[in-house]
Amino acid sequence: MTEFAIPAPDGQRVLPSPKISFEFFPPKTEEMERNLWDTINRLAPLAPNFVSVTYGAGGSTRERTHSTIARILGETQLVPAAHLTCVGASRGEIDEIVDRYHEVGVRHIVALRGDPATGIGTPYVAHPDGYQTSPELIAGIKKRHPDIEVSVSAYPEKHPEARDFDADIDTLKAKVDAGASRAITQVFFDNDLYLRYLDRVRARGIDIPVVPGIMPMHNFKQARNFVTRAGTTVPKWLDEKFEGLDDDAETRKLVAATVAAGQVQKLAKHGVDTFHFYTMNRADLVFAIAHLLGIRPKGAAKAA
Ligand code: FAD
Repeated sequence: MTEFAIPAPDGQRVLPSPKISFEFFPPKTEEMERNLWDTINRLAPLAPNFVSVTYGAGGSTRERTHSTIARILGETQLVPAAHLTCVGASRGEIDEIVDRYHEVGVRHIVALRGDPATGIGTPYVAHPDGYQTSPELIAGIKKRHPDIEVSVSAYPEKHPEARDFDADIDTLKAKVDAGASRAITQVFFDNDLYLRYLDRVRARGIDIPVVPGIMPMHNFKQARNFVTRAGTTVPKWLDEKFEGLDDDAETRKLVAATVAAGQVQKLAKHGVDTFHFYTMNRADLVFAIAHLLGIRPKGAAKAA
């Protein structure tokens, strides 16, 4: 068991120096771009392990993901990770994207199959000349550039398309065998689901880090729709916490911070020392939660 050093308000103890990473999405407009950069500048001093930038459904943000990653590389000391999916592109096109990333200095890709181009819930049809599965994509990346670190997805509630947990974890094993060295989970709210999933993964002989994906719910209604479509269960207790707050953004924010802080502190109590935050391009809640985990801006003094 890991040592816990910093007393939390509820008497739990959190790890002395957990490791964190942040996920952003590429901005669509100039205003969103400014907002993203305010967020990046606020979070950068927390010295995350890496920051990742998503790849829009169907490859729709190919150029925007690339330019966001290039700007992070050019203007910050952060280590960027580019998300990439197999959707809607031939192997040749994907290889070109990977080569371009490598050329500008990217050494971390989050490799995914991606959602069906026709929408979540419809059958997935791979591009005829494309990478057919995520393990194929990972193998393709590692073959071209063995120095690129590959992270992948993991599903504590299993992926909605997977026949069962065994089939889902077989896919995770295939991704590891193809060269993945870290998994990041889909968002979840019930820590027991994650801990049980981790037991299953370890029992299958998979020993890479399986980093919990944490989403502070800034806009509960919107986020609820989004995560439910992706197969995440929203427990009744969570709905109840946000009940009656649709028109009260200020209280919602405090509740969202409390819920997510409670979740990470409980995970820390179970020895989890690495967290990936789905930031939704907003800094405030993530900054506060990181603070509660004992993380301080680099250079800032930490209270004894
Ligand atoms: P995989 O891990 O390859 O497969 C997931 C499960 O589905 C496995 O159990 C597999 O066996 C099963 N499966 C796959 N194909 C089939 C099939 N044809 N028939 C039956 N079972 C099948 N999406 C984006 O578009 N852009 C992103 O940037 C992005 N980032 C993500 C980051 C993280 C950390 C996570 C968790 C998800 C992300 N997604 C992203 C969503 C992801 O693309 C979808 O969940 C997609 O449906 C599956 O891709 P995958 O790589 O997770 O699938």
